[in-house]
Amino acid sequence: MIPAAFEYHRPQNMDAVLSILQEHGDDARVMAGGHSLIPMMKLRMADVPHLIDLQDVDGMAGIDVGADSIRLGAMVTQHDIIDDDALAAAAPILREAALQIADPQVRYMGTVGGNVANGDPGNDMPGLMQCLDAQFTVVGPDGARDIPARDFYEAAYMTAREDDEVLTAVTMPVPRGGHAYEKQKRKIGDYATAAAAVQIVKDGGTCAAASIAMTNLSDTPIFSEAAGAALVGTNVDDAALKAAVAAMLGDIDPSEDNRGPIAFKKHVAGVILRRAIERAWSRA
Ligand code: FAD
Repeated sequence: MIPAAFEYHRPQNMDAVLSILQEHGDDARVMAGGHSLIPMMKLRMADVPHLIDLQDVDGMAGIDVGADSIRLGAMVTQHDIIDDDALAAAAPILREAALQIADPQVRYMGTVGGNVANGDPGNDMPGLMQCLDAQFTVVGPDGARDIPARDFYEAAYMTAREDDEVLTAVTMPVPRGGHAYEKQKRKIGDYATAAAAVQIVKDGGTCAAASIAMTNLSDTPIFSEAAGAALVGTNVDDAALKAAVAAMLGDIDPSEDNRGPIAFKKHVAGVILRRAIERAWSRA
């Protein structure tokens, strides 16, 4: 459980980060909270000869809640999200989901940028950000670009971010309607067996818009457009719930592991999604 030797860099600004990344290529990697990367280094599953700590880099922290949009600096921790009352008022699903990640110690260190950049299918924030239609800002040698969360994930630990780019912020529209984040886990502090992020906009007694994303049920988070579409125009009755669950099951592709066989995971996914839709609808 001791990592291989590495050189520790603690730059103060993004130019310095990018120049270390350029100089060392694949041998360099950024670290945010370190609560995914350090365990991987200790287990010798990640070899990082040059570790670049982002803690002191200017401009990567801060939560901005505007009238139409929300910006989270990449170094905002899960604890910061839980602790910010203005953010919780504007986007309560963020606090609801963050409270279901790991335990307080991990949440004091784990960052939103690290959680979404990591590409671990078990991380909760990627699916959440897909549900909320967030954009990820990355900065590299050619400048900055925005990548929609729904286009970011390619395979487990493979994302649209290039190795020499750093994720600096997550931006999203202020959520409308009702929301729910439901997570089934084996025990407190565990990663999800299945989780569902749901946002629903109600018009009169009818569902006007619905957004649904699932976690840890494929090698990437799954934004299920079909599941959301199955609710639109309905009054979210039992038939609509069954149609949404069926559509979601058509989009996920779980594999058997120590959280259970495929049939069990699909069953749990259906139960979790149904609960999340019912709760989001009751709040819409
Ligand atoms: P780091 O560990 O520092 O980095 C993770 C990866 O992302 C690295 O490859 C790093 O190079 C890259 N990276 C980090 N920041 C950036 C950036 N700004 N730009 C580009 N690349 C970047 N997470 C959950 O979602 N749900 C859970 O239930 C959960 N349970 C956990 C339980 C335990 C016991 C532990 C130790 C962790 C758990 N986590 C869970 C993970 C935790 O939330 C991590 O902190 C988080 O996933 C990664 O954030 P970090 O800031 O620690 O990133």
